Amino acid sequence: MSINQSGWRPTAPEAKSGNVPASVTGNKALMLEEALIFEIGDARTTGVDFAEGDVAHDMLGDLTRKAPIGLPGLSEPETVRHYTRLSRQNYGIDLGFFPLGSCTMKHNPRLNEKMARLPGFSDVHPLQPVDTVQGALEVIHQLAHWLVTLTGMTSVAMSPKAGAHGELCGILAIRAALEAKGEGARKVILVPESAHGTNPATAAFAGYSVEDIPATAEGRVDTAALKARLGPDVAGVMITNPNTCGLFERDMREISDAVHAAGGFVYCDGANFNAIVGRVRPGDLGIDAMHINLHKTFSTPHGGGGPGSGPVVFSAALTPFAPLPFVEKQGDHFALIEEETAGEHHAGSFGRMVAFHGQMGMFTRALTYILSHGADGLRQVAEDAVLNANYILRSLDDTLDAPFGPSGPCMHEALFSDAGLAEGFSTIDIAKGLIDEGYHPMTMYFPLVVHGAMLVEPTETESKAALDQFIAALRSVAERAKAGDAALKSAPHFAPRSRLDETLAARKPVLVWKDTAPLAQAAE
Ligand SMILES: *Cc1c(COP(=O)(O)O)cnc(C)c1O
Repeated sequence: MSINQSGWRPTAPEAKSGNVPASVTGNKALMLEEALIFEIGDARTTGVDFAEGDVAHDMLGDLTRKAPIGLPGLSEPETVRHYTRLSRQNYGIDLGFFPLGSCTMKHNPRLNEKMARLPGFSDVHPLQPVDTVQGALEVIHQLAHWLVTLTGMTSVAMSPKAGAHGELCGILAIRAALEAKGEGARKVILVPESAHGTNPATAAFAGYSVEDIPATAEGRVDTAALKARLGPDVAGVMITNPNTCGLFERDMREISDAVHAAGGFVYCDGANFNAIVGRVRPGDLGIDAMHINLHKTFSTPHGGGGPGSGPVVFSAALTPFAPLPFVEKQGDHFALIEEETAGEHHAGSFGRMVAFHGQMGMFTRALTYILSHGADGLRQVAEDAVLNANYILRSLDDTLDAPFGPSGPCMHEALFSDAGLAEGFSTIDIAKGLIDEGYHPMTMYFPLVVHGAMLVEPTETESKAALDQFIAALRSVAERAKAGDAALKSAPHFAPRSRLDETLAARKPVLVWKDTAPLAQAAE
């Protein structure tokens, strides 16, 4: 099978470049087309030559493989080229603007990487004697101090390994606190519509029944509805702040007071702490537990499923129930408080979230980010993130529908809807059009409370010039969608693959390559 047979052809090369014919190879200038490795390699060839082994017998017995393994044989340069070509089709934060923002990927200062790669941090083993990892424990301890100070809370559990894991940690602490008070019968967690999807999933996973609290027309929690639902069966609330509509929940203090008066606890989803760090302390809002996504707020690379870290800060009321282990400074020594060393003082701890201490690499990156910004710099991070989002919101709200635009400024995310596009055009057409303009699309169809949602998070690191170019691109694509430009329906035209059937791909993924031609025939 050759590349030519399986290669692609541009769907509409005339669209922008006049009547330029497609290339014979399928390549576009120096951007090379690439077939599947099974199509360029062949199971009957091998890229390496080994002499026949002289072992008379092996010890595998019946388990010896009888048929070829069926992997394509490629030489070293063929293999290197295959993966390098594929890597060039990747879009990443080091190439261009990523409107998915910190939720998926924001600029990660190289200094963080340099620090995380210091052998004293990168080569430590979690079972090493604590006397040999004092520096690593000091990093954890210092970072914990910053997180407690920035949030105005009492303590922090560093070990949870992602935001959702942190949510579970917080809910387990709430459950332990309720059980200690003899109130384990509280079985309901209230979750507003504007919360992140992981919140109801976490509450359900921990065995609670989840009840929705509606949003107001301006995109915030309906405080009156929430208060009306409080009662002796409610264990607590989970509120995302800033919420998924990109808005700050202004009634937070009032909500916390009401929940506490009714005997419940307040969990805050603080994954978006980057929008408020240095400006608001969750501890002042009456929050009992909140996770912080180190991999969002304090950079650290995490797109495509990379490692996360979701420490949870606790109020004084929940501190006795926080999980082990944690680092404690005893004189000049950093001690690891575990089951054996916890003693009476930590008898209420609900247990552990992980086998060891958490994500050392993420701790090092986050502390580097924090120390290199300083307290005033962190405050500016939040201000710049919010300023950039509002610049996008106000630059485009004359062209795109901004459902909560009238509610006032947004936080770190600008939210648009598909209202006002021509009949038959939707958010997906805008996203595909943006790809042709050289941009990874924004978050689409989320939050669910907004029809055809488009959520743009520019983050703090983008320059005004970068934002202006993105705004011009999005404006142009939006105008084409409003005018009903048919070419937009088949975009992207310039990507290696044009519009795919994403529903079919998601519902019936083909994960195993099958040779369509029988071997004998393929050999001819
Ligand atoms: C990203 C995010 C989460 C989940 O965090 P993970 O690290 O992906 O588990 C939860 N809530 C909000 C608001 C988020 O943005």
